[in-house]
Amino acid sequence: NSLLTIKDLYASVEDKQIIKGLNLEIKPGEVHAIMGPNGAGKSTLGYVLSGREGYSVDGGNVALAGQDLLEMETEDRARAGLFLAFQYPVEIPGVSNLEFLKASVDAQREARGEEAITSAEFLKEAKAACKQVNLPVSFLKRGVNEGFSGGEKKRNELMQMLLLKPTLCILDETDSGLDIDALQVVAEGVNSQRSADRSFIVVTHYQRLLDYIKPDFVHVLSDGKIVKSGDASLAHELEAQGYAWLQTAPAEDE
Ligand code: ADP
Ligand code: MG
Ligand code: MG
Repeated sequence: NSLLTIKDLYASVEDKQIIKGLNLEIKPGEVHAIMGPNGAGKSTLGYVLSGREGYSVDGGNVALAGQDLLEMETEDRARAGLFLAFQYPVEIPGVSNLEFLKASVDAQREARGEEAITSAEFLKEAKAACKQVNLPVSFLKRGVNEGFSGGEKKRNELMQMLLLKPTLCILDETDSGLDIDALQVVAEGVNSQRSADRSFIVVTHYQRLLDYIKPDFVHVLSDGKIVKSGDASLAHELEAQGYAWLQTAPAEDE
């Protein structure tokens, strides 16, 4: 019983092969950390899974809860329960955060055949989510990402996650640009959402985040594939020894 199964995935961007035979299986409720040198393809993997424009799949297959993920439109992937945090870095002036969040939640509930949530109910949930990620309720009235600081954007994304209740969350580099307090907020948000039917892929450069979000598995992604997998202790080994001992291909400069 697996939530996500990636088999021999090859993907490219701008005609450049980035993902080169990647395999990964995630069961419901598991937290998988993906680490690896800069330029290895970690962010690309998230984009490919979410169906971002410009990323082409050249081989392999991906199943999400038994459905062929790669055949699905981007919106349908989100409705099927996939959430890529930090995928909406764009500002959407004129659309309030509350409207944006409600529209996403409405679309998802509809796709899942669930009853619509009333505006009053949603506002209550949204306010609770603000509180949980330490954002003032006034954030709900602001334009989406309009003038948000880096840390605020990340807290805002986390709030989206709390409201959308996805089955598979991909968090990419949530630690970059976060101070230790914000890091703990992100970790608490993730930990509070861990459950038997929700899985996480946490992409991170630093072992630090994994002190707060304890992963079930740690994988090293290097040159487009997973070259080593282990438990949480692997993150400590990597922190101490770097990636060179894995004899992976040198990372390319970005
Ligand atoms: P990571 O997240 O592991 O640091 P990325 O997935 O961001 O790595 O990038 C993997 C490789 O793909 C890098 O060599 C990067 O330069 C390249 N790459 C990413 N996006 C593009 C793009 N739009 N056009 C060309 N090359 C890209
Ligand atoms: Mg990078
Ligand atoms: Mg990256």
